Amino acid sequence: MTTGSQFRTDTVHRLTRKGHQLKVRVDDLPGGAEYGFILVAGDIADGCLVRIHSRCVYGDVLGSEDCDCAAQLDRSLDLIQAEGSGVLIYLEQEGRGAGLVAKARGKNVQEHTGVDTFSAYRALDLAPDSRDYLLAIVALLRLDLESVRLLTNNPEKIRPLQYVGIRVEVQPLLISPPNEEVRQYLEAKRLERGHRIPEELTAPAAESDRQSQSMPLVGYAFRAPRWRTPKFSSRWDPRRRAQPGPERAVAITLRETDFDTVSVWEDDDRPAASGLRGVRAWLWQELKRRWSADRAQRFGSHASPRIA
Ligand SMILES: [Zn+2]
Repeated sequence: MTTGSQFRTDTVHRLTRKGHQLKVRVDDLPGGAEYGFILVAGDIADGCLVRIHSRCVYGDVLGSEDCDCAAQLDRSLDLIQAEGSGVLIYLEQEGRGAGLVAKARGKNVQEHTGVDTFSAYRALDLAPDSRDYLLAIVALLRLDLESVRLLTNNPEKIRPLQYVGIRVEVQPLLISPPNEEVRQYLEAKRLERGHRIPEELTAPAAESDRQSQSMPLVGYAFRAPRWRTPKFSSRWDPRRRAQPGPERAVAITLRETDFDTVSVWEDDDRPAASGLRGVRAWLWQELKRRWSADRAQRFGSHASPRIA
């Protein structure tokens, strides 16, 4: 069954890449172009390939070889092109959500101290990874996709999709590190963020192993807050928590997801309809309400509106 029939059709055009043409259509992400875009290639159906990619201007645009971002994007597009269909969601979440300047400051700390990128962020009092995938999820829900093959190694992209009822088959994007920088970066992703990267892919060469062991370890004194701790408000008293109704149970589950900056469940109202369909509709209504309130509040400001 072809899905995504609600997607706008006035942007359909041919894209030539690596000598082959692909029919694509694009749209801004829900909320606005400043959050990124969604590109649908070919005629998608349930189980299609999906890549959720966060912007890395160094890798994606400048050809930097210090990270695997460009290689992952390139591989994803190769696979989508080979299948003739798929979805790319490109999120404006540079520097793992902290921005380009913060990323550059992190690299500066890394070069001076030898710590990995996540520790460098902590040393700067930044969350190691403040990206969220809410808009990607809403975009996928609007395509009516019930199952996807997700091109990722990052469990934080998998769980939120599963929470909203999208069946996820994970298709790893394993990039052999072309140099020591990328090897260390992949290793940090695996050790610090639980990315599904085989250990052997990041096994250090003997020389580089000695180098990394001799590197000074600083920055660990700065521990960023645990961003994924479920935030139960006081109204969730023990008595009510002990006897959750079916809808309440759904709400609690969703509150425990990785939607760091989303507090759509703060209000005590519940989905009007029961079941997943109701939760989806409710999520979407809530988001629209929050966006319009947020926009009105920040009119004229370039500050990125927070959903929370
Ligand atoms: Zn990168």
